Amino acid sequence: MATKVTKKHILNCQFSNWYSLFRTLSPKARVIKPIPASILRYLNEDGIYIKDVSNTIEDLTDEEDGNGEEQEDIHVSSYYPDKPTIQLIDRIISELDGAVVPKLNWSSPKDALWMMPTGTMKCTSAEDVLLLLKSSDFIAHDLDYAFDDCIEEDAQEADLTNQKFPSEFSHELILKEWFPIHSSTEFRCFIKGKNLVAICQRDDNYYDFLEDDMKEFLPLLQDLASKLSEFPDPNFVFDAYVQKNRAWLIDINPFCARTDGLLFAWTELYAMDSEAEGPEIRLIPKGSMPSSGSANFYTNRVPFDLIAASQGENILEFAEKMQSLASESAR
Ligand code: ATP
Ligand code: MG
Repeated sequence: MATKVTKKHILNCQFSNWYSLFRTLSPKARVIKPIPASILRYLNEDGIYIKDVSNTIEDLTDEEDGNGEEQEDIHVSSYYPDKPTIQLIDRIISELDGAVVPKLNWSSPKDALWMMPTGTMKCTSAEDVLLLLKSSDFIAHDLDYAFDDCIEEDAQEADLTNQKFPSEFSHELILKEWFPIHSSTEFRCFIKGKNLVAICQRDDNYYDFLEDDMKEFLPLLQDLASKLSEFPDPNFVFDAYVQKNRAWLIDINPFCARTDGLLFAWTELYAMDSEAEGPEIRLIPKGSMPSSGSANFYTNRVPFDLIAASQGENILEFAEKMQSLASESAR
């Protein structure tokens, strides 16, 4: 039972790799590769960036206290990407009809929706894109840990295993044109030995129409699967969105436990016969507790120590405190 994955497979599942093969099967997107250095630095930097800080902590305190004594200014700042990079993202957003969903090589920041006023990944400005990426643990995983726990397949891969990143690797920023998705018709499809062996819903709510509609959706998903035969690995997981008699390719993910098996356990998927006829289909059964209203990825939200540090302080005081906590921990 294969539980480990090769670096090559992880590389094959990068957005830019599969998108270059299957562009016509997927909604419109732009790949910025390598990711601009200023975005990489911003994402890797600790600290709090406050836009257009015109006041200092003392300015605010003086206003509150009504005491005009001169004090040394403390400016709170952290790194933010340069203007040309911001303009590049804004230009792409307007070319993609004004709204995008951002992503790095593999992951979208779907654990950071709580940062967005809309509660979605819909970004209409470069600032939205940067805030969402910066707030996401999944993005941090793409930045630092994407090749953890990989094995080498052959001697050629040996050089890939000794470094954090393979030599030909670079991070990429993906901006996908945003469009309204009805999550009821999103599916995760498992390909094993080039054969579609399993399909399940991506959304975790019960939809009464799905069982019937699946009769129409199955040929669309099978057709999409057959068009993916050029994918270099025999095993992979693809996500599809069915809309008006067409199945769109949304993503390709590694065939291993780092991809959520959703309604299938990985022990089941690893044990499945790759030559089995017809995929096993699983939908959320009637009577399951609906997930609407529950907080997905709530463990990825603000850490407790950050909340504790913020008690009773204005944003500048808070930012300054976090900055000094960060430099203390770096010492
Ligand atoms: P996973 O970790 O499950 O593989 P991911 O990080 O690879 O997810 P995607 O599959 O690309 O992220 O997208 C996550 C969700 O975001 C999708 O299920 C879909 O609901 C929504 N989404 C993706 N692309 C778009 C888009 N272009 N417009 C609107 N919503 C989108
Ligand atoms: Mg994915």
